[in-house]
Amino acid sequence: MRTPFIAANWKMNGTRSEVAALLDGFKSGISTESRQVAVFAPFVFLPAVQDALQGTGIAWGGQNAHTADSGAYTGETSLAMLKEFGCQYVLVGHSERRTLFGETDYIVADKVEAALAAGVTPVLCIGETLQEREQGITGEVCRRQLSTVLDQVGVEGFRKLVVAYEPVWAIGTGKTASPEQAQETHAELRAYLAETDADMAAQLQILYGGSMKAANAAELMAQPDIDGGLVGGASLKVDEFTGICNAAA
Ligand code: 13P
Repeated sequence: MRTPFIAANWKMNGTRSEVAALLDGFKSGISTESRQVAVFAPFVFLPAVQDALQGTGIAWGGQNAHTADSGAYTGETSLAMLKEFGCQYVLVGHSERRTLFGETDYIVADKVEAALAAGVTPVLCIGETLQEREQGITGEVCRRQLSTVLDQVGVEGFRKLVVAYEPVWAIGTGKTASPEQAQETHAELRAYLAETDADMAAQLQILYGGSMKAANAAELMAQPDIDGGLVGGASLKVDEFTGICNAAA
């Protein structure tokens, strides 16, 4: 009942020519017939992404946004600007934003609320650090990250967003969570949300992120509560990303 969703997060990578080659490869290699696919590109490349992907069935989005519509916020980008360049999605609360740029659960919740108000679908990223996993508080940390947003946008807000569970220790490390580890957390989070609203929890897409590649994607996405992937490093290689997308059924 939940459509698989695979998203590329290019992070701060790419040149004009690399981006053009990736987009060409994605366009010719990915079928969007039975799956949703999106590309999260650095802001400066969004016009090129829009030109290339318009009408292809592959969506795109920004990696961050400010909550204000416009104003004196040097260096920031508004949701209205993202919309002008055709973004359907925005990443919110990626662990790199949380750890390197000081985004708290409350800032993340404000951004989710602003994105929903703007009609841009937030992909809310959550996940524990290695230290938190070793302390046995993975569930607690992820529930806190979810509940701050749930308190702010409610069940109706949660019906319109996507969650990406990205264990921080698996991001860019080559250490993927095992399908069992990822499934366990996804199921626990879905059950936690079901305590508030079973129907919302059942329809929520929960993506896995962290060293997903073509070789492990099918096994991860075969888990009952894993509805797709948020892909970093492997999304910078046409063969890898198209392989991951086409493994989603
Ligand atoms: P990697 O796929 O490079 O581990 O990155 C995952 C990620 O952070 C996607 O948002």
